[in-house]
Amino acid sequence: MVEYNELIFEISRSGRIGSSLPESDVPKVNLQNKLPDHLIRTELAELPEVSELQLVRHYTALSNKNHGIDNGFYPLGSCTMKYNPKINEDVARLEGFSRIHPYQPVETVQGALKLLHELQEDLAEITGMDAVTLQPSAGAQGEWAGLMMVKAYHKQKGEKRTKVLVPDSAHGTNPASATVAGFRTVTIPSNGDGLVDLEELKKHVDDDTAALMLTNPNTLGLFEKEIIEIAKVVHGAGGLLYYDGANANAILGKTTPGKMGFDIVHLNLHKTFTTPHGGGGPGAGPVGVKKKLIPYLPVPRIEKQNDQYFLNDNQPLSIGRVKGYYGNFGILVRAYTYIRTMGPVGLRQVSESAVLHANYLRKKLEPYFDSPFSQVCKHEFVLSGSRQKKLGVRTLDMAKRLLDFGCHPPTIYFPLNVEECLMIEPTETESKETIDAFAEVMIQIAKEVEGNPDIVLDAPHTTTIGRLDEVQAARKPVVRHSKEKTEEGKAESVKS
Ligand SMILES: *Cc1c(COP(=O)(O)O)cnc(C)c1O
Repeated sequence: MVEYNELIFEISRSGRIGSSLPESDVPKVNLQNKLPDHLIRTELAELPEVSELQLVRHYTALSNKNHGIDNGFYPLGSCTMKYNPKINEDVARLEGFSRIHPYQPVETVQGALKLLHELQEDLAEITGMDAVTLQPSAGAQGEWAGLMMVKAYHKQKGEKRTKVLVPDSAHGTNPASATVAGFRTVTIPSNGDGLVDLEELKKHVDDDTAALMLTNPNTLGLFEKEIIEIAKVVHGAGGLLYYDGANANAILGKTTPGKMGFDIVHLNLHKTFTTPHGGGGPGAGPVGVKKKLIPYLPVPRIEKQNDQYFLNDNQPLSIGRVKGYYGNFGILVRAYTYIRTMGPVGLRQVSESAVLHANYLRKKLEPYFDSPFSQVCKHEFVLSGSRQKKLGVRTLDMAKRLLDFGCHPPTIYFPLNVEECLMIEPTETESKETIDAFAEVMIQIAKEVEGNPDIVLDAPHTTTIGRLDEVQAARKPVVRHSKEKTEEGKAESVKS
């Protein structure tokens, strides 16, 4: 079988062409004195010369090397890699949504504004908040915007609170966003059950506490049962409660952050609400707030009066605009489509299935791996590879071995408070057969660690690229193909 994997420069043949363009009718301009000398090209760019068919095969082959939710199981904990229904794509491509311009007069985009306004209301209901902004374009940006509102709120009350409390199991973006927003973060250790240690919390809450950032269920997949008491402690000292709702598929239609006592929440539409994610964007991290924080929401607010939608910039206490136009509009259309196709009953089923799937898989795997918090979990759970580590095989090795079976590995070494952590989120969209098959693979790997550890230590065996130098790959990523001249001056391609 012919492989179509060759690098595009290797299949290039002088004079081969894949496009036909008309003769240029732009007059040649002398660039001397118009651009610095070193920026003026003296030779033609060295581009690959290939036919259209070769080009299509090249990119199709490349895309097949990528693992995505559309071609395999993807139990990446805290990332909610669930199926993105294709109807979302159809709706986002409707001309009335995809071909309008954000600078059009509002009278001409009433339909788009109506969708945004209804999405704000749906998300407010889902989170138990009083108002929502759709502007932030990522979970982390939502966190930052929320914390800027926390800051503005305290300032308006004449207080300068400098401290944000974050539990040790928190997502890394929480302390990062708090720092970027100008706060000092204080880590609250978890107790033996993986939950917030209430006594420790009480020690740290004082009149300098601006907010506590929490996610419930937490990143171990466990529900913070003492949340009402936690909220009382923080509110009692004048602080606010921030809810990280990136992975809300455990609570949809069951409870809300509002009921738990939270004042601010962000959601990740690109996790819980099935808009595609990975590879850096685009995403959407709407933020919901309780009434007392509405004056601080970003502007413009999308509002409705006499059946007309309009943009309201008149909010003197607002933290300002945090994103161009209305946010990532196409992503908002997809999330709206998902919410409307599911309806309230469907969204409740989402949570029930997400929790059932996680517990079913947890029970199947617990005999083979250490389970530091063996109790009913929500949408995800953590295991520890410490039993395997004693035999010389680390969690990283098992993650690499999973690639040989066409599975994306779970999140590993996070949360930080679990040794050799494996964080598994099967999501509600997988079938029982897929979850069973994944369990079989994990059990096989656990047995290999005992009987034939080398096959795990040398994995992956089936992928184009084996193990990378992870440190170099992170610090000095080589993300493009480049041609380097050898000593003889011959062009040689460098794989990257
Ligand atoms: C993904 C995630 C975030 C960050 O979201 P981004 O869109 O990647 O910025 C924050 N908190 C939790 C719990 C998450 O899972």
